[in-house]
Amino acid sequence: MIILAKKDYYEILGVSKDASTDDIKKAYKDLVKKWHPDLHPENKEEAEAKFKEIHEAYEVLSDPQKRAQYDRFGYVGQPQENFGGTGQTFNQEDLFGGFEDIFNMFFGQGMRREENVSRSLRGEDIYLTIQIDVKDVLYGSEKEIEYTRYETCQACHGTGAKDGTAFKTCPKCHGTGVLRVQQRTFFGVVTTQTTCDMCGGSGKIITEKCPVCGGRGKVIVKKKIKVRVPPGVEDGGRLRIPNGGHAGENGGPYGDLFVILRVKDIPGIKREGRDAYSEVDIDFAQAALGSEVEIEGLEGKEVLSIPPGTQPNTILKLKGKGFPSPNGGSRGDHVVKVNVVIPKRLSKDQEELLRKYAELSHSGVNNKRHGFFR
Ligand SMILES: [Zn+2]
Ligand SMILES: [Zn+2]
Repeated sequence: MIILAKKDYYEILGVSKDASTDDIKKAYKDLVKKWHPDLHPENKEEAEAKFKEIHEAYEVLSDPQKRAQYDRFGYVGQPQENFGGTGQTFNQEDLFGGFEDIFNMFFGQGMRREENVSRSLRGEDIYLTIQIDVKDVLYGSEKEIEYTRYETCQACHGTGAKDGTAFKTCPKCHGTGVLRVQQRTFFGVVTTQTTCDMCGGSGKIITEKCPVCGGRGKVIVKKKIKVRVPPGVEDGGRLRIPNGGHAGENGGPYGDLFVILRVKDIPGIKREGRDAYSEVDIDFAQAALGSEVEIEGLEGKEVLSIPPGTQPNTILKLKGKGFPSPNGGSRGDHVVKVNVVIPKRLSKDQEELLRKYAELSHSGVNNKRHGFFR
């Protein structure tokens, strides 16, 4: 399992935040051509990762609704109200088609696939969002997740043919999966080849469909898995579970499962890196004389010592009461800004004492009692 930092989709595509859909499309096409794994046989893995990342960024930024959500929240996916329900996945149209589109685009631009290779495509990734508590962030935890995905049909081994054997050789391409057309042009004889439309490039035609999956080669399966939430994860952080996604096409590998973690807020506390930030209101007397005040911490109530003579906006720290780092090591601090609040109303006794105080400190104050006192 790998934790991925929040990705900047704009940076991945190399476009500005106000780029138009056309700009995004163009950047995507250029990048996808540059990083196609087939063009990088020497570092295929890196190219594949890059390719996937580019595709993911495009999928979000090319869709106005997803883009708006990403701009606002920094991630895409619907947060779940309660953890424990069935995981939410993107709808079917989203799940199938993404990679298809890329390949179609390549065919459209004249890129060729090797002969006799059926269209084996990697399965789509699945994105799930779960809610976790600050406690999970502090100590890490294990969460059970339920979701549905397509798995390769065991009865036909994903072929869609009964028992995995009910095939005949495609009569149109004679089993090669490709169709070749020779054309005489100004430059000489040019051979172009396309995927066979009759068998979809597999070279085989199913004679009897698998009764278990109805010929689709995959079945819907409800999965229940446990994921380990490591300490220190940030809101919007993601866990990647390799092969946790949908089954591929024609024996292609499984996609990945991404679990997006939404951390439940503690009202009044913000996080920045390893530190937690909040504010506390105290009155003049507490600031002048010092006090012990109770504040909301990451693990419930904490006692904050206000030293005598504390000034407004003083920053105090509860050492080691912040968040752990995702890379291990000690916890950050809980940083508290002290607000000294001046009372708007005073009782008669309070006012008298305060006047006595003003007299002793020779500070000239209004003599008249204002209406808003008392
Ligand atoms: Zn089957
Ligand atoms: Zn064929």
